[in-house]
Amino acid sequence: MPFALAVHGGAGVLPRSEMTDELRRQYEQGLLLALQQGFSALTQGADAVSAVVLAVSILEDYPLFNAGRGSVFNHQGQHEMDASVMDGRTLAAGAVCAVSRIRNPVQLAHLVLQRSQHVMLCGAGAEQFAVEQGMKLVTPDYFFTERRYEQFLQARRRQAMQLDDGATIPLGTVGAVACDPHGNVAAATSTGGLNNKRYGRVGDSPIIGAGTYADNRTCAVSCTGHGEFFIRHVAAFDVHCLMAYKGMSVNAAAHCVIMEKLKPAGGEGGLIAVDPNGTIAMIFNGQGMYRAAQVAGGDPLVAIY
Ligand code: ASP
Repeated sequence: MPFALAVHGGAGVLPRSEMTDELRRQYEQGLLLALQQGFSALTQGADAVSAVVLAVSILEDYPLFNAGRGSVFNHQGQHEMDASVMDGRTLAAGAVCAVSRIRNPVQLAHLVLQRSQHVMLCGAGAEQFAVEQGMKLVTPDYFFTERRYEQFLQARRRQAMQLDDGATIPLGTVGAVACDPHGNVAAATSTGGLNNKRYGRVGDSPIIGAGTYADNRTCAVSCTGHGEFFIRHVAAFDVHCLMAYKGMSVNAAAHCVIMEKLKPAGGEGGLIAVDPNGTIAMIFNGQGMYRAAQVAGGDPLVAIY
């Protein structure tokens, strides 16, 4: 069976005017690193779930992306991160939200999937579960990056000057979808959320059906964009439904959700998806989406705009 992996680093790309050659190189390097590691795991027999958790962990560790280290700040100057993972074989899912001391939130989401009876754990309860499972907590300064702090201060200044609500830029998230050689699909998503977001705000990324979904009968999906819209439109599940009930291809279903439903509603963002034949869709309705993909027997592809 053909296998395939795709990753994204969020739909909130830098405008072309601000993208230097060096920054572009760094973004592409991060995406390729995650793609190569996840893809080589699939080549060596890893299942789709392990591949997406690995790829997303690498993106979480890469400080340029808004997940794990490099996450944005909330209005109180803290990091609150959300993540989820779903296994298309069984519909088993795990998610965590508003965690602030977990180095790799996607790995905690995976533990929730594997070792708890629940689908989602939040905040202090999720961190207590992490400790019980033998995970080491990190101190909040681990997530600090100068660049995100600058963006946070800038958003606060704009808010103080009543230029806007200061909470919607930049968009960013990381995610991966995979189809393994057995035709099993899986998806994982992880984010720091929105810059200067309200304390306690949770986006679509940890919500099964909104930011993440996987079902072997149709596809696996990981979304990025303005989370409130993805929640209201149940975006990831909608891709599944269009395939299941209308018989659409993965590309047609992804296009319909991002371009025909979210865009007219004002929901900026995109998604990556893969079906059990290894066909990949990567669709966005804004300026771009950091993304990379590879199908067995093919070359890796990396793109931003
Ligand atoms: N969807 C994420 C959120 O709303 C952010 C993003 O993907 O840019 O939390």
